[in-house]
Amino acid sequence: MNLIAHFDEIFLKGNNQKLFIECLKNNLCALFPGTKVKRIEAGLWIENFQETDILRLALVPGVANFAIAFTCELDIEKIRNAIVDYDWGVDISTFRIKAERSDKRYPLNSIQIEKQLGSDINKKFGYKVNLNKADLTIHINIGSEQAIIFGNQFTGAGGLPVGSSGKVMCLLSGGIDSPVAAYKMMTRGAEIELVHFQNQTQVTEEVSQKIMDLAAVLARYHGKINLHIVPFAQWQKQIVINIPSDYRMLLTRRIMLKIADKIAKKQKCLALVTGDSLGQVASQTLENLTAVYQSVETLKLSPLIGENKLSIMTLARQLNTLEISNRPYEDCCSLFVAKHPQTKARLKDVVGLENRLDLSTIDKTEYISYHIGM
Ligand code: ATP
Ligand code: MG
Repeated sequence: MNLIAHFDEIFLKGNNQKLFIECLKNNLCALFPGTKVKRIEAGLWIENFQETDILRLALVPGVANFAIAFTCELDIEKIRNAIVDYDWGVDISTFRIKAERSDKRYPLNSIQIEKQLGSDINKKFGYKVNLNKADLTIHINIGSEQAIIFGNQFTGAGGLPVGSSGKVMCLLSGGIDSPVAAYKMMTRGAEIELVHFQNQTQVTEEVSQKIMDLAAVLARYHGKINLHIVPFAQWQKQIVINIPSDYRMLLTRRIMLKIADKIAKKQKCLALVTGDSLGQVASQTLENLTAVYQSVETLKLSPLIGENKLSIMTLARQLNTLEISNRPYEDCCSLFVAKHPQTKARLKDVVGLENRLDLSTIDKTEYISYHIGM
């Protein structure tokens, strides 16, 4: 099938619009092999698209909406025949026609086109016109060489295409939040890489599989993703031995940021991204986030900071990460879950405790990198 896709924010990009559109075109070609994508006056024309990929397209950053579409010669009689012969689907009782002219030289204006064709649709199918809330909107876009005709539009993710605003390193745990945070950055145009710290737990294998599966889901909307897995058992040991239980989580997160920062620099990522959401758990109070984020100078971004859990879960469900995140394997052992975790850490205390750890090995951290496809 063929589709017409539109953008939203890309339109605000003035002279740079072309670059953003080119980026989106390339992303679509890579994500949906076998399709052909070209820029037309009305948006992007996608040929040879597989119906089974529609839900996935709805989550590709940069596509604001799209519809199944067909072309027709500019002749009004031919357009009329095309729309009355088309199967517009079931459960329709009201409709409207929305004509738009990308090429204003066309002899009929939009209102004339809508009026002429509206009565034909009404006669053929018996649908009633409703301009405010129609079951079906038939769009007719008059271009300079052809008309493009399409029905109801699917809503897309919108925003900016992946790769149009630089690269970030996302800290991916096995939880619900961090994959959603990574996706949010994608819709702002960021290319992402992922880093996971592999704790020693009773289910390390299962957690690793979870991480691979989460990365593969994100790759379905992003394209291939670099995933770096860092063994963390030695750090866990050091932290349990040297740090009182109420501070362990905070020190853990500071060390994670330091190591993530090394990898980020090597991979030319300009920011570190976490799934923190203010107040969600003990480690995410303003005091604690201050103490954790001070660990490295690099820009830290937390796109979920102002989101509530329910909206994060809704997006996780749409993305198909929720089911994976909900697998019952924790990436953290019980020694790190304090009965009374510190909620108002003082930076001074945290830095003092950190001096008990041997930070000299951070530079030599070994990790394994994977290139995860969808
Ligand atoms: P999530 O659902 O993303 O795990 P959470 O609410 O469980 O979040 P924490 O466990 O406190 O919160 O983690 C906060 C953030 O720290 C995570 O969103 C993630 O970005 C990062 N993080 C935590 N554990 C790991 C890990 N093992 N590897 C990589 N990043 C981690
Ligand atoms: Mg977690």
